[in-house]
Amino acid sequence: MIGAGGVATVAAFKIVQNADVFTEFMIASRRKAKCDQLVEAIHNKGYDMPIRTAQVDADDVEQLKALFSDYKPELVINLALPYQDLTIMDACLACGCNYLDTANYEPKDEAHFEYSWQWAYRDRFREAGLTAILGCGFDPGVTSVFTAYAAKHHFDEIQYLDIVDCNAGDHHKAFATNFNPEINIREITQKGLYWENGQWVETEPLEIHKDLTYPEIGPRDSYLLHHEEIESLVINYPTIRRARFWMTFGQQYLKHLEVIQNIGMSRIDEVEYEAPLADGSGKTARVKIVPLQFLKAVLPNPQDLGENYEGQTSIGCRIRGLKDGQEHTYYVYNNCSHRAAYEETGMQGVSYTTGVPAMIGAMMFCKGLWRKPGVFNVEEFDPDPFMEQLNRQGLPWHEIHDGDLEL
Ligand code: NDP
Repeated sequence: MIGAGGVATVAAFKIVQNADVFTEFMIASRRKAKCDQLVEAIHNKGYDMPIRTAQVDADDVEQLKALFSDYKPELVINLALPYQDLTIMDACLACGCNYLDTANYEPKDEAHFEYSWQWAYRDRFREAGLTAILGCGFDPGVTSVFTAYAAKHHFDEIQYLDIVDCNAGDHHKAFATNFNPEINIREITQKGLYWENGQWVETEPLEIHKDLTYPEIGPRDSYLLHHEEIESLVINYPTIRRARFWMTFGQQYLKHLEVIQNIGMSRIDEVEYEAPLADGSGKTARVKIVPLQFLKAVLPNPQDLGENYEGQTSIGCRIRGLKDGQEHTYYVYNNCSHRAAYEETGMQGVSYTTGVPAMIGAMMFCKGLWRKPGVFNVEEFDPDPFMEQLNRQGLPWHEIHDGDLEL
């Protein structure tokens, strides 16, 4: 496993809880001390699976190759940042390792994500007889599996898909992001995008919004965003006429985001700055900083939000389509309590809802259920064994048939 952040912490706890499938693993990240702390936290909870740790810069293919050649992992679980997807895939190909991630590739200097860069690896993974599983978090991940499950069991034709993501939690901070702030703010400040009648429709950032009612939560203002799973779902389910992604934001969050943008702190280009040297000499040096990366350093660490986090997340798919010639609706969702996630893993619900599916994807691979040569999005595998594990591993799902989808 590469990365030792919030999502990786949850995935590691879930891996050791499934010792019938996983017998040993390694956690490697930019800072080895963080990996060691995580192993200590796991062993302090009474799990005794052997876990090795290592330092690796996942931007550097040669370092990754040296690590993979030494440890010889069967599967590499990429829980670092989207910037590292391609270097890790390159090293997997060079060393004969299979691959899984939770977020698609993004270049550092451009706030833009799409699957084309990773889909370009299809032939190489197929020819090497290796499996790459893309986007195996919650969204993308579970939402794509929910769609595949709906297509398999409840519809002959899916026509309308709305993925709805609500975080109704309260962490009692004025402003914080629930996962890596740099990645999160880049995502939300992008233009919106949805699929309708065979083409992409672009909106201004957060331009379209409406109240949607979430189970056990109630109505929440929900904003249309571009989200990566839509890109593969409309290809894999060509009957879809319209596919959209909605996420809730509170007014407090949006107010801060607007200020951050207006004062230039969401910029991802380099600015020059005269900074005092850290050695205390009183000397200064002209350095380059990326404002958004600097902002990350002063914002609350998403990993530290768990302790006082109340409330829950609710993420699901609202689908309309045809079965036996009749129109039906279907809403499949999971609600996850931040407090329960924290008590189990020390992390809040957003890390939990991503780390658990990453582990389940790895389990599907290790059990031979999701294993075929090539590069695949999760909806291209059998959803049934994954759905069964969601119920067992802490993310139970619920269904509403023929209800009002509001959309
Ligand atoms: P964090 O920032 O908490 O963790 C990222 C980890 O990767 C950190 O341990 C970091 O090291 C490490 N890392 C960063 N760069 C490198 C590098 N060059 N080499 C080695 N290690 C590196 O992020 P999260 O845990 O919140 O998110 C992890 C991933 O999950 C992200 O890709 C995110 O986009 C994705 N995600 C997916 C979701 C989904 O539903 N599909 C939802 C939420 C997140 P250090 O600790 O030193 O900073």
